[in-house]
Amino acid sequence: MTTALSRSWEHAVVTGGAGFVGSHLCAALLDAGAAVTCVDDFSTGRPENISPLLERPGFTLVQANVSEGLRTKRRPDLVLHFASPASPADYLRLPLHTMETGSLGTRNALELARSSRARFVLASTSEVYGDPQQNPQDERYWGNVNPVGPRSVYDEAKRFGEALTTAHADTHGTDTCIVRLFNTYGPRMRGHDGRAVPTFVRQALAGEPLTVTGDGRQTRSLCYVDDTVRGILAAAAHGMRGPVNIGNPTEITMLDLARLVVELAGSPSEIRFIERPVDDPAVRCPDITLARDKLGWEPQVRAEEGLRRTIAWFREDGTDD
Ligand code: NAD
Repeated sequence: MTTALSRSWEHAVVTGGAGFVGSHLCAALLDAGAAVTCVDDFSTGRPENISPLLERPGFTLVQANVSEGLRTKRRPDLVLHFASPASPADYLRLPLHTMETGSLGTRNALELARSSRARFVLASTSEVYGDPQQNPQDERYWGNVNPVGPRSVYDEAKRFGEALTTAHADTHGTDTCIVRLFNTYGPRMRGHDGRAVPTFVRQALAGEPLTVTGDGRQTRSLCYVDDTVRGILAAAAHGMRGPVNIGNPTEITMLDLARLVVELAGSPSEIRFIERPVDDPAVRCPDITLARDKLGWEPQVRAEEGLRRTIAWFREDGTDD
């Protein structure tokens, strides 16, 4: 299935554009002919992620904390709010920054969209479903989140961001869209960001044991970044308000994922079981009926292929951060 929807944008502002997903999004928008302003404070992103883009016509980098204000010289017709620490290691290290980016940062990005009459897209997350009591999760599920648990700084910031986005649309008529991204992986993830794929790939390439938490039977559904970016841009183009799940519905256990990475990397590594983090969800799988029906979108890159590309990137360009 190919995504039927496309729309051309003149000027897109991408907050968090120097991060993993944001940098792929900036590149895709430039490829589609848009001018792109990337606003990033490099709290978790890397200059290397966007260094190839700095050469491209139409690309502007603004180094700023989006929680402190957001203005651009040129009026955007699309604002994609992707700034936020996203890996547990990052948001546990930056709890207040995470909550401010999800609240003040979202408010500032919404204000820019409203005053520019631009389309606004909020990067929300499957974490709004918490440790879900229904699997797969569709957009009508309200979630099972611990408001004072260690992950709450991220989960609740995103839930607040969704509520604020909805209130903005209702109050000011801002043209908004909420995309709930599920676990995405691919080139430009940091080997030590704590997420499963980069951790396993780094360990496999170093010949170290792959550390699987708990008994490894907890599942995730992993979406290759090119598919995720295509889904985000389809939702932006459609004009829907969402929320819409963007993720890969093929579930894999963490133990099977570790075994697959070892095999594809041709690694001698063993698997070691370690303690499971508090509030770590047992299952996570998107119901993507809405995205399929409304956007004509579904993932195209199979896990073996996406992991092969990711492993190749880590071999060539992966850094040790
Ligand atoms: P990332 O950490 O690689 O990127 C986030 C970027 O935002 C970084 O470049 C960081 O420097 C920047 N940033 C953070 N706070 C900022 C602030 N206050 N002002 C300006 N810039 C700031 O994370 P990612 O994986 O690329 O995630 C991007 C977005 O997608 C996040 O909003 C995240 O919640 C969402 N998301 C990602 C996934 C995933 O699997 N990667 C899943 C669900 C949702």
